Amino acid sequence: MKLKKKKGQSHEPLSPELRATLPKVNINDLVVSIKYYVDEDFAHIQIRDHSVCTRCATKPCLDFCPVQVFTADAQGKIMVGYQACVECGSCRIGCPLKNVDWQLPRGGHGVAYKFG
Ligand code: SF4
Ligand code: SF4
Repeated sequence: MKLKKKKGQSHEPLSPELRATLPKVNINDLVVSIKYYVDEDFAHIQIRDHSVCTRCATKPCLDFCPVQVFTADAQGKIMVGYQACVECGSCRIGCPLKNVDWQLPRGGHGVAYKFG
């Protein structure tokens, strides 16, 4: 069954059948188990050209990042709180205008996941 997109939504919604097969994961439970080694001297995620963002109608970066690294200020400028990045990689493919410069954090920095 094909679901209709909501107004302003740029991606196809998941069908209820597919959603039912996904594990129940609460992102907040996962985030509190992560240890961050923040590099205060180097932002590994940056906007390449802010003028490009002004032409981006749907601004999906405000939705696809699981930890809201991307926010818009009062003027609509996209801000990047790279310190909270959990390195999921979504912004490498999610920006329709390829306007996110994504790199891995420098050695010794980034997130460390604990499992179990
Ligand atoms: S999706 Fe890409 S181009 Fe659009 S607002 Fe976000 S960073 Fe800018
Ligand atoms: S890699 Fe994932 S967590 Fe990090 S900024 Fe991109 S979308 Fe957000």
